[in-house]
Amino acid sequence: MPLNVELVPCLTDNYAYLIEEPQTGLCAVVDPSEAEPVRRQLAGRKLTHILNTHHHPDHVGGNLELKAQFGAEVVGPGMDRARIPGIDIGVDEASGWQFGRMKVRVLEIPAHTRSHIAFVMDGAAFTGDTLFAMGCGRLFEGTPEMLWRAMEKLMTLPDATRIYCGHEYTLNNGRFALSLEPDNAALRARMAEVEQLRARSAPTIPSTMALEKATNPFLRPHSAEIRRTLGLEQASDVEVIAETRRRKDSF
Ligand code: ZN
Ligand code: FE
Repeated sequence: MPLNVELVPCLTDNYAYLIEEPQTGLCAVVDPSEAEPVRRQLAGRKLTHILNTHHHPDHVGGNLELKAQFGAEVVGPGMDRARIPGIDIGVDEASGWQFGRMKVRVLEIPAHTRSHIAFVMDGAAFTGDTLFAMGCGRLFEGTPEMLWRAMEKLMTLPDATRIYCGHEYTLNNGRFALSLEPDNAALRARMAEVEQLRARSAPTIPSTMALEKATNPFLRPHSAEIRRTLGLEQASDVEVIAETRRRKDSF
């Protein structure tokens, strides 16, 4: 049975995620922006772990309150202990993490912040603000080189991997993607679906790695159409990524 993931909308456009380890019944939340919506979704279950992809307040804002209420352990990037409220267990790519009987891979994907990580378990990847559906997070602490390295690392995940990201930015991301690649048929088809979902305020999450590879411009610096749009036919992948990110910043 695949991992059960419950979406918990937080703040205006954040998603936290509740996950239960099926064999032990341990219960974790990924990136709790705030405590109350998580408490509501728990509906009486006991929270045992809090997982953080990075230190931003809209991802760790509920840590201390949930930890105080449930005694949950906080798991986050070991490189960034000073910025993760209440952190108990620092993890990195070498350590990984064990969620009950389930092995969790940790991917170091610095770009949005210098110590950003993703949690990967049972065919699901929690990518925080480094990889969004059809987009990526702003480069607050990283460089375009780091971003492209992070994207290449994420693209080694199997195509069927379900992608759970930190925000519902999909519609705007898709509009930007179309501005670069208007003839991408997969992108147009996906946008038609996303527009329908958002028209009734339904989530566009999860995505899959296959879908991201086909439609996310930050995974597609090799695309001839994107390169033509940007006037960067001969540039390196990193140069294309850098220009794509620069344009998205002011889109
Ligand atoms: Zn962030
Ligand atoms: Fe965020």
